[in-house]
Amino acid sequence: MRKKIIAANWKMNMLVSEAEAFLHTFMHEIGGENSVEIVIVPPFTALSRVSEILGRDQKAKLGAQNMHGEKSGAFTGEVNAAMLRELYVRYVVLGHSERRTLFGETDEIVNHKVRAAIDAALRPIVCIGETLAERDAHQVEAVLRRQIEGSLHGVNARELAEIVIAYEPVWAIGTGRTATPQQAQEAHAFIRRTLSELWDAPTAEKVRIQYGGSVKPQNAAELMRENDIDGALVGGASLDPRGFADIVKAAAAL
Ligand code: PEP
Repeated sequence: MRKKIIAANWKMNMLVSEAEAFLHTFMHEIGGENSVEIVIVPPFTALSRVSEILGRDQKAKLGAQNMHGEKSGAFTGEVNAAMLRELYVRYVVLGHSERRTLFGETDEIVNHKVRAAIDAALRPIVCIGETLAERDAHQVEAVLRRQIEGSLHGVNARELAEIVIAYEPVWAIGTGRTATPQQAQEAHAFIRRTLSELWDAPTAEKVRIQYGGSVKPQNAAELMRENDIDGALVGGASLDPRGFADIVKAAAAL
């Protein structure tokens, strides 16, 4: 059984004071819930404080939204894996579609970051997904396969089992337009089949594949009920502590 994993991607939102208030309410709302893995992914500026609040046992785990693939050097504005580790970050989101489209991240760049994250014992959440034009042109499977091959090049089976993949159709991110459970399940099943082909079936069975794209308390359960949907990467709806707690509870109730 794959444990469901629900992540809150706050993007460029949340002052430290707002993050404190969020966690206060959210932790109270979820109570002792531990059947679902929860990851809070704040902006870099709030990582340190969120880390302190979550404490060493991290009932909710800490994630970062990005990192650089090099260990150090002249990369103004960037942070490396060791800097994240120092703050007890466990997960790092890599290749989010906003990074791919707004900041020019290619599969090759994502792959470099994936290697650096694994080598630093951070768990990558690797985002893949097609644009609307690619879906309309019936290229979903080709795009997903290319992104898997490119972003996960050189990863061995043991490492793959620890990676989380987030299937995020670009047309569903921040648009209020969600993939239907059937569309999402088809893509997730294809991703798992591809992992099985490129690595092996037992490893593919272990990999958790999150769905992301306008997940809300109202649609979370129907999406996560599907066989190959192992959780959610939540953007907009993760800014409301009660709403995000409802998504966690929906996963726990499945
Ligand atoms: C995301 O940022 O990964 C995301 C899925 O955003 P939203 O939930 O707002 O669509």
